[in-house]
Amino acid sequence: MKCMSCKYGEMEEAKTTYFAQLNDCYVIIENVPCMKCSQCGDEFLKSSAAEKIDDILDGIEKIASKIYILDYATAA
Ligand SMILES: [Zn+2]
Repeated sequence: MKCMSCKYGEMEEAKTTYFAQLNDCYVIIENVPCMKCSQCGDEFLKSSAAEKIDDILDGIEKIASKIYILDYATAA
C-alpha cells in the first residue's frame, strides 16, 4: 500500500498516540494501531481503530475529567 500523501513511501504497521479534544476535556489514547508512511511519516488510523476510538470517546464524554489518558490495548 502506497502512501496517499507523498505517493512514494510504503505504509507500514505502527503504533501512534491519538489526541482528541472533547467539549471540556482532553483525551490521549496511547498505542493506537495505525499505518505509518516509511518516507514522510504520515499516519492513518485503521478503520477498526477509528471505530473503537469513537466508542471510547463516547464513554469518556460521560466522565467529568479534564484530561484523560488511557492505553488503547486496555480500553476495550
Ligand atoms: Zn508518505
